[in-house]
Amino acid sequence: MSFPRKHEDLIAAGYLYRGQGTCRACQAVVLWYRNSKTSKMMPVDYLTREPHWSICPGAKDFRSKKQKREAEKAKQGDLFQF
Ligand SMILES: [Zn+2]
Repeated sequence: MSFPRKHEDLIAAGYLYRGQGTCRACQAVVLWYRNSKTSKMMPVDYLTREPHWSICPGAKDFRSKKQKREAEKAKQGDLFQF
């Protein structure tokens, strides 16, 4: 995966540094970046500089929650047809 590892590269790629935080799933220290194009927040692992979700032991929980949310969205989409 081509992911910019260095802070400067992330900034150059259009990410905005939003500060340090803690992963809710595994309590690891993460650095939050926001993608200025998609406005999505991305946690970067403080130690490895990898996207935290790719190494987080709790990532499965994230994914299942996200899938649930997307399933709910899909349901809402069925309700509101344009
Ligand atoms: Zn984590």
